[in-house]
Amino acid sequence: MSARPRKKDFIGPPEKLSGPYLLEAIKARSKECGACWEWHGPFTSGGVPMMRHRGERRPVRALILEWKGKPARTNRVASTSCENTACVNPEHTKELPKAKMLERSRKNTNQAARAAKISATQIRKLGKISDDAYMRIMGSTESGVSIGKDLGVDQSLVSAYRNGKRGRFRMANPFAGLLR
Ligand SMILES: [Zn+2]
Repeated sequence: MSARPRKKDFIGPPEKLSGPYLLEAIKARSKECGACWEWHGPFTSGGVPMMRHRGERRPVRALILEWKGKPARTNRVASTSCENTACVNPEHTKELPKAKMLERSRKNTNQAARAAKISATQIRKLGKISDDAYMRIMGSTESGVSIGKDLGVDQSLVSAYRNGKRGRFRMANPFAGLLR
């Protein structure tokens, strides 16, 4: 990961940032993850990477397409070829039809919602939980309130697991000391 360019290294004030300087600034705010550049700046609630550019809040990938001289056409949006929604690697940035993009995000949302629903049902109806939920309860410092809310159960159930009052198998919780 390259260091964020310092102000004095820019040619012209940052609001005029363009060309390779724009890419430098984007890269500096991303983390290389395999071939992807994962954005560490702000996102919209819909998960679109955003940055300030010439005094405006703009989608990072739209800026990249503009920089390439190929802004997204009507009914198309700047997206990724790698399906990593956080990725802002210019090589993975491409325009997609809006309909396809919506379908993609709907699919992701549905999967997450369904997974949460299934683990919640498992806990309530069967009194046991999925391995993923168990690992999350036992292997993280996340608060019981927040986990319970996600899984749709009372935090007391999360505490019961953490205190060893429930569970299919006992497991040392490396974070136990941090959970008071
Ligand atoms: Zn990528």
